[in-house]
Amino acid sequence: MKCKNLTLYLSAIMLTISTPTLGASEMTKAPIDTIFAQGEKNPYGKFFTGQTYLNMLSEKDDIFNAPIGNVTFEPGARTNWHSHSGGQILLVLNGEGRYQEQNGELRILHKGDIVRIAPNVKHWHGAAPDSWFTHISIETNVPNNTTTWQEPVTDEEYK
Ligand code: MN
Repeated sequence: MKCKNLTLYLSAIMLTISTPTLGASEMTKAPIDTIFAQGEKNPYGKFFTGQTYLNMLSEKDDIFNAPIGNVTFEPGARTNWHSHSGGQILLVLNGEGRYQEQNGELRILHKGDIVRIAPNVKHWHGAAPDSWFTHISIETNVPNNTTTWQEPVTDEEYK
């Protein structure tokens, strides 16, 4: 009897261990065509609200000096407020997005839109509340372009 209980107990433990769980690297596949691969969970996620994914299409290096990344946002996801000392250009690939500069009008973004962000202009970009969104980010005026991350975009500001 005692032995049987032990067997059941061990079986339960093994079942628990072998049950697949959602790992931290699990990603949700975007339901829109991201054109380029969606990439991994954004390693800069702490500067964003909601889940985003990053695929560096051209890494920062001394040969090209042209960092280009593909960023995919889940609905409602957005960057914190931030600025780029060398500016940034966004090329919208798919979905519906949002862009806003400090004290500026909210801009609705669609496929094919281009956003040119001048150096040191405080701004944020992200997805619409009910749509996935993908844009290419081009860092300009490299290699001396640094990003200064600031406070999150509150729900009030986002709406
Ligand atoms: Mn930016």
